[in-house]
Amino acid sequence: MSEGLAPAYYFLDAARAGASLPRGFLEQARAAGDVTGARADFPALHQQVNGRPLVWFDNAATTHKPRPVLDAMTRFYERDYSNVHRGAHTLAARATDAYEGARAAVAQLLGASSAEEIVFVRGTTEGINLLAATLGRSLVGPGDEIVLSTLEHHANIVPWQMLAQSVGARLRPVPVDESGQVQLDAYAALLSDRTRIVALSHVSNALGTVLPIEPMIAMARARGIRVVVDGAQAVAHLPVDVRALGADFYVFSGHKIFGPTGIGAIYGRRDVLATLPPWQGGGSMIRDVTFEHTTYSEPPARFEAGTPSIGDAVGLGAAIRYVMGLGMPAIAAREDRLGHLLMAELSDIPSVRLIGTAAHRVAVASFVVEGRRTEDVGRALDGCGIAVRSGHHCAQPALRRFGVETSVRASLAFYNTEEEVHTFGASLRRIVRGR
Ligand code: PMP
Repeated sequence: MSEGLAPAYYFLDAARAGASLPRGFLEQARAAGDVTGARADFPALHQQVNGRPLVWFDNAATTHKPRPVLDAMTRFYERDYSNVHRGAHTLAARATDAYEGARAAVAQLLGASSAEEIVFVRGTTEGINLLAATLGRSLVGPGDEIVLSTLEHHANIVPWQMLAQSVGARLRPVPVDESGQVQLDAYAALLSDRTRIVALSHVSNALGTVLPIEPMIAMARARGIRVVVDGAQAVAHLPVDVRALGADFYVFSGHKIFGPTGIGAIYGRRDVLATLPPWQGGGSMIRDVTFEHTTYSEPPARFEAGTPSIGDAVGLGAAIRYVMGLGMPAIAAREDRLGHLLMAELSDIPSVRLIGTAAHRVAVASFVVEGRRTEDVGRALDGCGIAVRSGHHCAQPALRRFGVETSVRASLAFYNTEEEVHTFGASLRRIVRGR
């Protein structure tokens, strides 16, 4: 840790050592917009791995859970657990309130007009598959086109490709420049009378690029084209306002925003959501069933067949209340500082080649080391207690654009520290030097 940073972070060492923090300290830090103290809320971050303090730089893959999320889930299972919507008893009412409260929290996080615009799904992957099967099947026919970016995660490519192949449509990827940013003029040129859907990441998981989705959405909507935004890498890092963005659909996963796995959500603009046919059939999504005919519920119930992941939704609601309590602007500002520091550390190592250097980015660094296999670099960092990801990050077209099949990816969250970034830089320098 550099001298100048030491005073601000004394409490992290105290928390690591298991010491109790001064009463009210965390509350004060939060009130002041300082989110660094919140690190103490994450039990998993305070452990040793391979004899070193764990440095969790794999936040783009998944995030750790703060105590309020763990407590909310335990409390739910200990006290309030029941199936939702059906039974007319006290626990059913409590569980339904908790589940619907989580839906309201998602609506608030995204700036939706109402909770009815939020559909719970298992995660981003399921959300995009649902949209490909409903929106896609209704809109896309032979000769039509779906425009997406070169930076997409496979979850925002493959479902559209499966749809396109089955109906005789095709995917049109928008190219990116050397920095890893989409080329807006090329995007404008790709939009045509044949474009039915635009599917875009808000933030690239492989490169960290923040796409200029606001103008991209506006250009699509001016032509009456529906837009689906994959927000998996955005919601934990940037304030999101779906109404200001003008997106028709916005999808994310709970586990990337400090919530549990097995839960995520689709925001769908009310008027558009109402036009979609159901996806899976079963209980909870119907109004009336006979052997001849079924009528369906209004959204969001129309898209939530069967028993949902109730406990995970409760955990997601708690996670959202937690980040909103810290303040998304404070989180974004903290990560911006960490991201600059991370890039500075990496730029300082001659044999490191950064993949993706767009001006507008989150605290993600993707890189390769000359003469070293990415998996070896990942393993060597793990030996230092540092968790990064090495591989194709489920974004093969994005990496191939830069002539590589795999990269090492360090991805940060607000709970990471300057000290960890310096530890990462020093460890990587040692690994590069072969010591
Ligand atoms: N899109 C992006 C941009 C992602 O980063 C991820 C997860 N790596 C996904 C989609 C898929 O999310 P999940 O595996 O939670 O469904």
